[in-house]
Amino acid sequence: MKKLAAGNWKMNGSAAALSQVQALLAAHPAPSCEMLLCPPATLIAQMSAAARGSALKIGGQDCHAKPSGAHTGDLSASLLKDAGASHVILGHSERRADHLETDALVRAKAEAALATGLITIICVGETEAQRDAGQTLNIIGAQLTASLPDTATAATVVIAYEPVWAIGTGRTPTLGQIAEVHAFLRARLTERFPDAAQMRLLYGGSVKPSNAAEIFAVPHVDGALVGGASLLAADFGAIVTALGV
Ligand code: PEP
Repeated sequence: MKKLAAGNWKMNGSAAALSQVQALLAAHPAPSCEMLLCPPATLIAQMSAAARGSALKIGGQDCHAKPSGAHTGDLSASLLKDAGASHVILGHSERRADHLETDALVRAKAEAALATGLITIICVGETEAQRDAGQTLNIIGAQLTASLPDTATAATVVIAYEPVWAIGTGRTPTLGQIAEVHAFLRARLTERFPDAAQMRLLYGGSVKPSNAAEIFAVPHVDGALVGGASLLAADFGAIVTALGV
């Protein structure tokens, strides 16, 4: 299984930020893990052109469940693909919170993305209140069951465990807490998908150069979904290096 360092630029990044892509590619022309950046949709085409022929893949941060139509402001999976995306992030907790996305909607979007040929990163994770109430595994199990299409395979779907309270806060779970959730995800996926052993499980939530190596040493952590630390080539590159070791 090839590990994956995925960056989520969220609503950040103007055309000037493409210099970070050049710097990343110059420093990591042949990484031993897969590299993915998911910029705002406005940059997908330019970033894809900049990354053409390199080891860097480009993804979207969301897509609509429908293939086309009267959905002002939305993007279908095929529009993302047409712009140069090979991947899409779905069910990020910020989408679930800001746009009231449900597991059923995430699943419908994932079905659309898979039908279009986009590799789909599906995010799950508990809030702090849910963790404090001892509900972490119940919540994640329910999200996993309801957000994943039956057609998911290790080649087409990646799961990202992102505790909501760790995103953008500088706080991370203990290594033991990450290990518990990732072992649980692997076991749950194994009940449903024959190739679950090969399905990549990313950890996301305040990953940075200083904590990446210890997180990547946790069993069943096959990479990271990185927000803030993916904006600068030096930081994201250090995480890529940590994953390749
Ligand atoms: C994210 O946006 O998925 C994320 C994990 O953000 P950060 O790394 O900034 O916590």
